[in-house]
Amino acid sequence: MKNELPPFAPGIFRLNGAGTPPVLLGSRCPDCGRHCFPACDLCPDCLGTPASVELGSSGRIYSHTVVRTKPPLGLPAPYAVGYVDLVDCGLRVFALLDPAQIGRFSIGLPVRLAVAALGNDGHGEPRLRPYFTADLA
Ligand SMILES: [Zn+2]
Repeated sequence: MKNELPPFAPGIFRLNGAGTPPVLLGSRCPDCGRHCFPACDLCPDCLGTPASVELGSSGRIYSHTVVRTKPPLGLPAPYAVGYVDLVDCGLRVFALLDPAQIGRFSIGLPVRLAVAALGNDGHGEPRLRPYFTADLA
C-alpha cells in the first residue's frame, strides 16, 4: 500500500500506525451535537461553530449499490458505494465500498475504514482514498 501518496481531499481521514485502523475525520457542533462529514464550518442545524473530531473507523452498511457506468476519477469499474452508519457517533456517511468485495455486501454488515491508493485526483495523479471494507470469511 502506497500510504505516502497524498489524500484525495485534505482532512477527511487520518492514518495511524500499523495494526491500528485509519479514522474518519469530521466535525461536531458543541451547541447541538450534530456531526458532519466532511467537516463543516457552520452547523447546518443551528449555525454553531463545529469543532474537528474523529468520527471513528467502524460502521454498518445501511444501503449499498454497484455503479456500472464509466467511473469518475480513475476509480475501478464497476465500483461500489453506500451509506454507512458509523458506530462511534451515529452519523450516516456516503462512502466508497471495497472494490474487491463487490457483490458481497449486505445491509447491516459490519465494516471498517481502510485507506489505499484508489483512483486519481482528476488529473491522473494517484491519490489515497478512504473506503469501507468487511471482514468476510
Ligand atoms: Zn449545531
